[in-house]
Amino acid sequence: MSSDPTKTLRQQLDDVVNLASISSANPAIDSSNKAIIDYLASQFESLGFSCEIIPSDNTGNKFNLLASIGSGPGGLVLAGHTDTVPLNEELWTVDPFHATERDGKLYGLGITDMKGFFPLIMAAVKPLLNSKFREPLIILATSDEETSMQGARTIAELGRPKARSAVIGEPTGLQPVRAHKGIMMESIRLLGQSGHSSDPSLGRNALDAMHKVISDLMIYREELKAKYTNGLFEIPYPTLNLGCIHGGDNPNRICGSCELEFDVRLMPGMHIDTVREEIKQRVQKVVTPLGISVELAPLFAGVPAFFADENSELIKLAEELSGNEAISVAFGTEGPFLQHLGMDTIIMGPGNIDQAHQPDEYMSLDMINPCLNLLTQLITRHCLH
Ligand SMILES: [Zn+2]
Repeated sequence: MSSDPTKTLRQQLDDVVNLASISSANPAIDSSNKAIIDYLASQFESLGFSCEIIPSDNTGNKFNLLASIGSGPGGLVLAGHTDTVPLNEELWTVDPFHATERDGKLYGLGITDMKGFFPLIMAAVKPLLNSKFREPLIILATSDEETSMQGARTIAELGRPKARSAVIGEPTGLQPVRAHKGIMMESIRLLGQSGHSSDPSLGRNALDAMHKVISDLMIYREELKAKYTNGLFEIPYPTLNLGCIHGGDNPNRICGSCELEFDVRLMPGMHIDTVREEIKQRVQKVVTPLGISVELAPLFAGVPAFFADENSELIKLAEELSGNEAISVAFGTEGPFLQHLGMDTIIMGPGNIDQAHQPDEYMSLDMINPCLNLLTQLITRHCLH
């Protein structure tokens, strides 16, 4: 696809939806995001941005884009992910890979979560290109947000990008978001010894041991709840969900191994490594006297909790510009990784999360102008003052 600065916003929205970029833990469904990264690079280059494409990993399939105009300290990062979740194509009433307008809405996979954010940035920045960028405007487009967040992790490990402020354009109905919980998913595997069920001394029962482990995890859950409560969240305490369990094979055999998977939704102030270590010590204390060995393994690297600085200038500005008070949300984002780089970070973008991750994903057309105004103001205040 050629880079053409005369492309309209509508054409660009169609283009980004058209360039499929599905992320999935299932390798058969997971696809490269190279086409959309290349497309965004060519479009931003045609507007005068300097572009750099950075591999997310060593697979050669996944990439991030940094596009910048202006230089020096300060400035603004506008960030988003280029991948989408998989889809059930048979449940869509429109072509998921074309932006289709119907009843004041624009439909397409990823239109609101969140490939549509990039054409909106371009539309907002175009009228400003004759001004001098006293501080940089940096666009960050990542890979794999919907699965491992590997794109944001890699970029953050490189210590980039750097700016005063960062806005991630996830669909929040243009409400500034100051907080979300973190998430970790873990497995506990207990290894005992199988044997004939008629004599318990012939083995070491991993299911019996798991019963004790679960009881202890439920105590730990209550301890976490008592320690971390924050009224900013709809569910104002951390949760620990026992998700699935597999063990044993037959009623008349002593269960030799048993595996439990669970997640923890972390409140701000809780840290993934600390929680993991506490669980490890507790489980070991429970099972060691039973002669059972234990393997603990994260099911993915986890996403930290996010909480914007109490005195965040960006929150104040975003509340003023949007007319909306900052809120918390129930989904995880790349926010913690950008915040970790020292940037005043919020989540705020067009569309609504309840329109994402489902058939007939859409963005209301009446979101577009308010979003453009907001982006224009954010860019002007940070970069052109
Ligand atoms: Zn998203």
